[in-house]
Amino acid sequence: MPKPTKLFALLSLSQASPELLRAQYAELQRQVPLMYALLMVNACAVAFTHYEFAPVYLSVGVVSVLFSVCGIRIVMWLSQRSIPDDPALIARQLRRTVVLAGVISIAFIAWSLALDRYGGPYERGHVALYIAITVIGCIFCLTHLPQAALVVTAIVTVPYLVHYLTLDDPVFFAMALNIFLVTCVMIQVVLYSFQSFAKLVESQVDVAAKSAETQALSEENARLAQTDSLTGLPNRRYFFAQMERMIERSRADGRRFAVGLVDLDRFKPVNDTYGHILGDELLADVAVRMVHGAGGSVTVCRLGGDEFGLLIADDVDEAAAETLGQHFCDLLAQPFEIDDVQIVLGGSCGLAVFPDAGDDAPTLFDRCDYALYHSKSQRRGQATVFSIEHEIRIRADRAIETALQSATISEEMEVHFQPIVDIVSGHVVSVEALARWNSSTLGRISPDVFIAVAERSGLISGLTLMLFRKALADWSELPGQIKLCFNLSAHDVTSSETVLGLITAIRSSGVEPGRITFELTETAVMRNFEVAARAIGLLRSFGVRVALDDFGTGYSSLGYLHRLPIDRLKIDRSFIADLTSPSGRNIVTAIVGLCRDLKLDCIVEGVESGEQLAEVKALGCRLAQGYLFSQPMPAGQCASWIEARDERAATG
Ligand code: C2E
Ligand code: CA
Ligand code: CA
Repeated sequence: MPKPTKLFALLSLSQASPELLRAQYAELQRQVPLMYALLMVNACAVAFTHYEFAPVYLSVGVVSVLFSVCGIRIVMWLSQRSIPDDPALIARQLRRTVVLAGVISIAFIAWSLALDRYGGPYERGHVALYIAITVIGCIFCLTHLPQAALVVTAIVTVPYLVHYLTLDDPVFFAMALNIFLVTCVMIQVVLYSFQSFAKLVESQVDVAAKSAETQALSEENARLAQTDSLTGLPNRRYFFAQMERMIERSRADGRRFAVGLVDLDRFKPVNDTYGHILGDELLADVAVRMVHGAGGSVTVCRLGGDEFGLLIADDVDEAAAETLGQHFCDLLAQPFEIDDVQIVLGGSCGLAVFPDAGDDAPTLFDRCDYALYHSKSQRRGQATVFSIEHEIRIRADRAIETALQSATISEEMEVHFQPIVDIVSGHVVSVEALARWNSSTLGRISPDVFIAVAERSGLISGLTLMLFRKALADWSELPGQIKLCFNLSAHDVTSSETVLGLITAIRSSGVEPGRITFELTETAVMRNFEVAARAIGLLRSFGVRVALDDFGTGYSSLGYLHRLPIDRLKIDRSFIADLTSPSGRNIVTAIVGLCRDLKLDCIVEGVESGEQLAEVKALGCRLAQGYLFSQPMPAGQCASWIEARDERAATG
């Protein structure tokens, strides 16, 4: 038996949860019309058996009124198809149902007991039976509104019992008492079953809440899996997944969209100079600036390191995509300020438009990357959109890549040597080995071009080692005092396999390592400073020398120069070409001074005229190289050239 307080809580509709009210309402919607139908059928039956005995106003009149009320209630319940949203409204309706149940019960019991005065024992027995089955039926139908069941039971069974008690007929009294007890038991059963019903609803609510919680948790997990933790931007995974979705949408509606890649221009040196904590703060600031600068249709993602992705949902053409990309470059060109440090970063951007540049995600990303590479190498701080010219260049690069893999590549490749002259003594001190390729299918191709292709296509390691072995072999034709300079590419410096291969080649040639200098460009070193510095350390510990090539064209950060174990600097030939201008002169003077301070050898390359030579000499440079002395030439020719020069020097 439920405790009284619990019973009260259960019966008080104001304490029921909205979900319970809704569930009660839903059940009653089905059962209450049935209850009214039962009332109508039962009333009909009693009216029929009393038609002969009772006055017409009772057997027909009152029944008609009761019939109409029941009919109206059936229609009202059936016409309410949906459950009201507002729990307060449901509670009001249920309370009205309880009150109405009381009123209708009074009417029915009064009418039944009034009929009981008419007819013989059978008819009167019918009334007693009618009241009994009707009240039991109503209790059943009101299982989900026990308040109403209680009201109906109390209103019907108490007068019923009193009525038959006053009749002084033991049979009717026994029947009434029996029915009263049965209804008491039934009320108890209804209360139990309602309690179970309430618990069931409660547990359903719990389950729903838990599953909503699980759902929210898994959505949060999914969001985190697609979020970059440092900047809070969508990450690489999101970028690619979203690109796939945009492709699908574009295929369906024919609209274009664009993707972009933004790479910060000077992030690595900043990170190396100021440390990772400031670097992280800087990346977060970059993210904030980019998101602020992005319109509603652009999603900024962080793809990793200092690379950001743009998803441009607008139907843009190449020109519009370029304007948008340039907008981001301009934003990044503005200085950043962190902990009172002013940092000028800059960023380059590559973009590709779907479907013109590529019609699947990998191709589109590749094209975008290609455009970014173009910006980085030729238009720093600018945006480049992948175009048909790029497509043509990619095809050309592919042809070069194929030719580089030809079986006869080792016969097609040659090494030429360009003398490096001590301009004070006039003697040749070393030679720079420069690769020459006469492809059987493509003809002569400049090393600038094929080295870059070999790097991008992963063929560089094999090519470098092959060229170095050739250089070592041909260089042996030159006089013994001449040293060898050999160029390494960016990838070579970060590949321990290549570095070890170079050391092995020197060992097996039997050459003294101190006679060899490897030239690395600043850009190559800066691409992965730590790894490059380690490789340089390894090479130097083996005894070879290392020169920084094309100095002045890359980052030119003095901060890292101190930390780099190098032996010499080669001033880029663009500065020599510019030597007549005050700025060109100043730069060369500064670099020469720097070499003196750091005790590094300084080589000037690209000396083409006597005036340039005189200038360079006046600035205090000792080593020079350029067309003024000689073009790069095959080993045999180079040997004769050196011999002739030495002879000329000897004869004065
Ligand atoms: P680099 O290392 O700066 O090589 C010097 C380039 O300047 C050579 O071009 C050389 O022929 C050219 N040069 C020399 N003197 C003068 C001059 O007075 N005026 C002008 N305008 N140019 C001069 P080259 O041989 O076409 O090589 C271009 C680049 O290709 C090289 O630049 C180097 O970065 C790369 N390279 C060449 N051979 C190799 C190699 O075996 N391995 C690697 N990784 N890169 C190589
Ligand atoms: Ca070089
Ligand atoms: Ca150079």
